[in-house]
Amino acid sequence: MPGADQDRTIPIRSDQVFEVTARERVTDPIVELELAPSDDSEGFDFLPGQYVLLSDTGYRLAPRSYSVANAPRSDGTLRILVTRVEGGQLSTWVHDELKPGDRVLLEGPYGSFTADPADRADPVLYLAAGSGLAPVRSLLEARLEAGPPCGPTTLAFSARTEDDVIDRERFIGLGDAHPGFRFIRTLTSGDGPPPHGRLPEQLAGLCGDLADHEVFIAGAPGFVAACAEAAEAAGAERARIRTEVFFVEPQPWSDAAPETSPDDVR
Ligand SMILES: Cc1cc2nc3c(=O)[nH]c(=O)nc-3n(C[C@H](O)[C@H](O)[C@H](O)COP(=O)(O)OP(=O)(O)OC[C@H]3O[C@@H](n4cnc5c(N)ncnc54)[C@H](O)[C@@H]3O)c2cc1C
Repeated sequence: MPGADQDRTIPIRSDQVFEVTARERVTDPIVELELAPSDDSEGFDFLPGQYVLLSDTGYRLAPRSYSVANAPRSDGTLRILVTRVEGGQLSTWVHDELKPGDRVLLEGPYGSFTADPADRADPVLYLAAGSGLAPVRSLLEARLEAGPPCGPTTLAFSARTEDDVIDRERFIGLGDAHPGFRFIRTLTSGDGPPPHGRLPEQLAGLCGDLADHEVFIAGAPGFVAACAEAAEAAGAERARIRTEVFFVEPQPWSDAAPETSPDDVR
């Protein structure tokens, strides 16, 4: 149960060998991997919302951060969503080379994009775009799996087109199983039923007054900044707006990280 874990100090482990046990292309630019600890690995605990560093077992590639996309499982398996970044080393390797049966190195867990169990009864709003869904899915799964008391819970996911909506059926099913859960998807382009347009601009209309809400936002820098501003304008307290920014590591030739990424759907 996440509440019990929250006060526990979670050890950070490096060089943990995991095996790719499943791989699925969930949208054109995003691949989902399932990773299981190998026999000679301790694996690791993590809190919902945290991330790990992924790299290859040959130490050829610089490790990169990927949020765990599931709540903790008793078998230690992790899922991650990896967006292809044009010219990006690690993400290109995942997309073009990594396959079931291959081994990878993980280090972690890291991050403070986690929920306070004391707030479980309060309403929660999750906002995500692209692979920003990963830490939000972990938090959402943990919240719903832990059962009552669990306040109203909304996931608003921004996608370019219907084909870019990840896990639509799963979230619709969660809405049927948990009456307090609402799934909204917005489209920035392409056909389909409303709502259409950038999520930050529609937030107040879709979600109303956020005065008593805990808000979790994850994804590309521009998306997160615009959503945080919109959530505050809709009444959320700044201290209760939690963000996970998927920034790209600065490259040696520049001290400035690129401002946009393929996930920068707003
Ligand atoms: C906390 C956190 C969580 C994250 N979680 C996720 C997640 O769940 N899913 C996800 O997909 N991503 C996530 N990210 C982003 C991820 O860590 C990587 O930054 C991303 O996958 C790109 O890594 P890469 O090695 O493929 O690209 P890099 O090799 O780091 O390249 C990044 C960019 O720089 C450009 N570049 C590189 N070298 C040069 C050069 N010499 N000259 C010019 N341009 C160059 C590339 O073209 C590319 O556009 C997260 C980031 C953070 C900080």
